[in-house]
Amino acid sequence: MNYISTRDKSIKATAAQAISQGISVEGGLFVPDTFPVLNEKDFAEIAKLDYVGRAKYILKNFLNDFTEEEVDYCVKGAYTGSFDNEQPAPISLVGKNANILELWHGPTCAFKDLALQLLPYLLTTSAKKVSNGKKIVILVATSGDTGKAALEGFCDVEDTEILVFYPSDGVSPMQKLQMDSQKGENVHVCAIKGNFDDAQTGVKKIFTDNSVKKVLEENNMQFSSANSINWGRLAPQIVYYISAYCDMLSRGEDLKDGFNIVVPTGNFGNILAAYYAKKMGVPVNKLICASNANNVLTDFINTGKYDRNRSFFTTISPSMDILISSNLERMLFELSENNDKAVAKMQNDLSESGTFTVSQEIKTKMNELFWGGCCDDKATLETIKELFQEYGYLCDTHTAVAMNVYKQYVETTGDDRATVIASTASPYKFANSVLSAVSDKKSDSEFDTVRLLSEETKTEIPDPIKALENAQVRFKEICEKEDMLESVYKALGI
Ligand SMILES: *Cc1c(COP(=O)(O)O)cnc(C)c1O
Repeated sequence: MNYISTRDKSIKATAAQAISQGISVEGGLFVPDTFPVLNEKDFAEIAKLDYVGRAKYILKNFLNDFTEEEVDYCVKGAYTGSFDNEQPAPISLVGKNANILELWHGPTCAFKDLALQLLPYLLTTSAKKVSNGKKIVILVATSGDTGKAALEGFCDVEDTEILVFYPSDGVSPMQKLQMDSQKGENVHVCAIKGNFDDAQTGVKKIFTDNSVKKVLEENNMQFSSANSINWGRLAPQIVYYISAYCDMLSRGEDLKDGFNIVVPTGNFGNILAAYYAKKMGVPVNKLICASNANNVLTDFINTGKYDRNRSFFTTISPSMDILISSNLERMLFELSENNDKAVAKMQNDLSESGTFTVSQEIKTKMNELFWGGCCDDKATLETIKELFQEYGYLCDTHTAVAMNVYKQYVETTGDDRATVIASTASPYKFANSVLSAVSDKKSDSEFDTVRLLSEETKTEIPDPIKALENAQVRFKEICEKEDMLESVYKALGI
């Protein structure tokens, strides 16, 4: 297996090169040129293992230039001791068919931990192989959860510096506090005046600027990415879908007609990982792409036209407030049967005019795989309330978007087969909104809100959220979106 770039498939890389570079030189994204396919025997084997074992079994296929010992070291380091009860991805069965895959039992209470606890190990192991002693500089644009999960993962990791940019008005108070209070000698956090797309575009620009690259080289440094454009972010996400399938099999669930997966989607990374799991042999029927009011993907799936020229909404599910879904590029590469030129053209159209349209053939294929739906904030809150009243299950705002769209899917299609719903954050990360959905009580204090939520719902406050109450704010910088590069140089002491 090699990694190739979505915009020029003649560019080839090993896993270590793809992971340490983050993005290909011409701006394309690295993807494996072939995918391993697992059979029934493999799944039965995987089902017997714990999460560490499952991750090793699956990931060694993708880490083609890692030794067994290296894979073992990385996976054990990531998933031992950092998740509640050593259970990174447990399922809560709600009702008859809804398998809620809880991906928020890690140190920052969002699904990003599943990948970002592992990425620092993958990246430093890769760097040792390919980048001869250069310091790795991680640049992150975040809509809230990636930033904190990356800071936590890379905190005081040797030979790395990490810089996180987040939209100053685009994250929840809890997310902001989580980032601004991050400990570590090698971490830097900066708010920008702009939205997530501005942050992401800014980071991508710094990344691909050759003059900046040269300055870094002169200082014996090299950029990499902890965003889901990095293959090292995506591969770990495939594991939990396969793991969920194995758990359902172990429970004796009859899955011969396949099952559906619903994912609350922003950058298209998490749902893409679910697609890759399907490609590897997991019997997934439909991939259901759930969006909030920023429903650019719903429209794309339904019309074949991607159009980011629209109003941007700040919602109560901020990690999905995105109009440019960067991982869609990898999906387009799949749908066009690895047509790098077509992908390059679509991405070029997108950056020049904000829109592109896929062929009828691609649209048909996309609709066989995906179903798209969206809901607004009001419906999100109603869903939280319904789910809690009916089943006593408390979910966060992002998961609620997924649950709402799942319900729309069942109502529209009548397809009520078993379904996995990716639950992407703890309700306590968005305590204000969640409390308002289930109770009339409220408070202006973030932590009183958290306590009220716990009292009203008889659910437990996660330890990482509790610990934040006494955390010291270290970072207060806000920069113009044009000044991001300056801020990078300052942090690196260049
Ligand atoms: C990042 C995030 C999402 C969106 O995931 P993508 O991989 O960007 O599609 C959804 N929910 C939460 C809580 C997130 O942090």
